[in-house]
Amino acid sequence: MGLPDYLHWPFFEDRHRQHAKALDTWARARLPALLEDDEKDAMSATRRLVAALAEGGWLDAAVSSAPGRAPDSLTLCLSRDILASYGALADFAFAMQGLGSGPIGLCGDTAQRQRYLPDVKSGRSIAAFALTEPDAGSDVAALKTTARRDGDDYVLDGTKTFISNAGLAGFYVVFARTGVPGPRGLSAFIVDADTPGLEVSEQLPVISPHPIGVVRLASCRVPAGRRLGEEGQGFAIAMGTLDVFRVSVGAAALGLSRCAFQQALDRVREREIFGAKLATYQLTQAKIADMAVGVDASALLVYRAAWTKASLGGRTTREASMAKLFATEQAQLVIDQAVQLFGGLGVVHGSTVERLYRDVRALRIYEGTSEVQKLVIAAQYLKGGH
Ligand SMILES: Cc1cc2nc3c(=O)[nH]c(=O)nc-3n(C[C@H](O)[C@H](O)[C@H](O)COP(=O)(O)OP(=O)(O)OC[C@H]3O[C@@H](n4cnc5c(N)ncnc54)[C@H](O)[C@@H]3O)c2cc1C
Repeated sequence: MGLPDYLHWPFFEDRHRQHAKALDTWARARLPALLEDDEKDAMSATRRLVAALAEGGWLDAAVSSAPGRAPDSLTLCLSRDILASYGALADFAFAMQGLGSGPIGLCGDTAQRQRYLPDVKSGRSIAAFALTEPDAGSDVAALKTTARRDGDDYVLDGTKTFISNAGLAGFYVVFARTGVPGPRGLSAFIVDADTPGLEVSEQLPVISPHPIGVVRLASCRVPAGRRLGEEGQGFAIAMGTLDVFRVSVGAAALGLSRCAFQQALDRVREREIFGAKLATYQLTQAKIADMAVGVDASALLVYRAAWTKASLGGRTTREASMAKLFATEQAQLVIDQAVQLFGGLGVVHGSTVERLYRDVRALRIYEGTSEVQKLVIAAQYLKGGH
């Protein structure tokens, strides 16, 4: 798709520009072949993509490199922006290695880090993040999966749904209840995929290629050494991880919308209607202007949040939620406009904008729906301090 045209913005340093250029060159050369047939077999395509991203050394940008330290938010977001502009599944394969291993990076002990993170970076192990349940999506604190202490182990029972990489993952970070109802009773565990009692019971056929399914835990025995942090810290670990990765969902949306915008520009310059190019009509120009503003405003919010995280550290809940909310909603609008400008061709299976139309939809739902982001943003103001 090409490099973003905002790399000269003051958010970025030369190392970010160099990373973006190198990744773009790699993506242009490698991703078309790697993404071929991803609609037919998303599982195999994801495996291929993780292996290739690891071989290129790109997964380092998604995974923690020092205890308690999140990956650099600007490099993470630029990576997702660029990968998504070439193909949503490439971005997904990259991002899930980060999200799935994020809790280990943020609060894993030395043994946990050494056991899991090198394999995630090298692509030997695929990571998954298992929070959502059939009756607990937006309302995370309502989750019902239990982890009962039994000697040196915990015994986990429950059902997790909409788990990305289900069936592919080497391990799942599972959030379960060890104590009182509500957020304070949750804990996080690393559960190896081959642990007896863990079963991927179903794959969910979603609207665009994405390996995702249901994970059941039945008397699943996990050593106490696989608990992340202390008992009762699970909710904080989940939210801390989402605080890092949520803004990068906005970056992925930005990559998808940049691709749609470029497709639309190319199309209106070529397409002849009523004896003139489509681009010459003012109704078309209004659409182009709306799309351009949508892309740039999204980029500003995404990289403002990423810069704040990378430079100032700490929680960036408000900035990340604003970026995720705005960039995913705008991407939906930009892509919809692109489909409209393509006319009938925009809804034919196999056209780039048709695929983008399906790819973008889930981004407004996962890692907190748009409605949840609004609640989070409002709470940041209503609790004071702004
Ligand atoms: C493609 C995809 C990948 C995913 N990957 C993962 C993963 O890897 N790991 C994982 O744990 N989960 C994953 N999820 C799950 C995702 O995080 C949840 O779907 C999401 O949090 C929403 O939960 P829900 O589906 O239960 O919807 P619900 O929580 O039932 O929400 C239904 C609707 O109610 C709205 N709503 C919620 N609260 C309020 C309110 N207070 N007021 C008004 N409206 C409200 C929501 O915004 C939504 O529109 C994935 C989902 C998808 C689609």
